[in-house]
Amino acid sequence: MSAEIFNKTRRILFSTANNPTKGFATAYEWMEKTYKKNLGPKGYAGLMAELKFYERFGKEYMLTIAGDMGEHADFSGMYDKEITRFDVTTNISFKDFKDYEPYMGDGIKYKIALCDKNNFEVIDVLELGFNKCNCGGYLIPFILLRDQHYNSKGESTWSNDQSLMQICTECSEFSELNSWTHHFLYSPSEFASGLPDDIDFNEQTKAVETYCVEHYKYFRREFREDIMAVAEHTYKITGRKGEGYWTFDFGFKNKAVAEEIPTDVDTGLI
Ligand SMILES: [Zn+2]
Repeated sequence: MSAEIFNKTRRILFSTANNPTKGFATAYEWMEKTYKKNLGPKGYAGLMAELKFYERFGKEYMLTIAGDMGEHADFSGMYDKEITRFDVTTNISFKDFKDYEPYMGDGIKYKIALCDKNNFEVIDVLELGFNKCNCGGYLIPFILLRDQHYNSKGESTWSNDQSLMQICTECSEFSELNSWTHHFLYSPSEFASGLPDDIDFNEQTKAVETYCVEHYKYFRREFREDIMAVAEHTYKITGRKGEGYWTFDFGFKNKAVAEEIPTDVDTGLI
């Protein structure tokens, strides 16, 4: 079955279902009599699941049918008072977080409607990519670029540690999963302080951002491909006398999960 046949059939059957003089009964009838054989078993199961989801939840989730734009969404609608895209499937094991990642981050949530015979389970797409915390939140992996080591004489050893951390999207609990040591792999602040004095603030910001992205890519490639952000550990001053707290300062966040990562978490010294 080609994508063209699938999309054409999809358009015909949904407009039939939406037509008040025809409706779902006619759409299902045409499906069985005319279209089933052209769609093949997978296409048939997929499109039937979409029709059933639309029939069952169309009003409740205020569903509109998404086009064939290849963005992994069959419908958009409202879920928990938030604009949400829905991808309907009959087999969750074919689904991969990476396929959704490029389309995420524009403020619209992704849910997967898993069709098991006639029941639907609505699953958050983050579940495809991340482990769950005991609290129900998702544990998002990120890299922490730590400051340089100094020896007992206060001299730099020209080496830095990097920690693989994870942080919960709900309760903000974090933990270290692994760590590495690299020579000359500075923390973002150290990198910034080594930049020439004559560049302006915007150029400096841009350079630090680029630096963080480079290391995001490096750690993803070399160590773990689901790393989602790069941070350093900084002391955030909130009062005139130097009062404040230690926190993660994220120099880069993958936009797919940027809104999910907690900010200004009081970490203490770690
Ligand atoms: Zn949690």
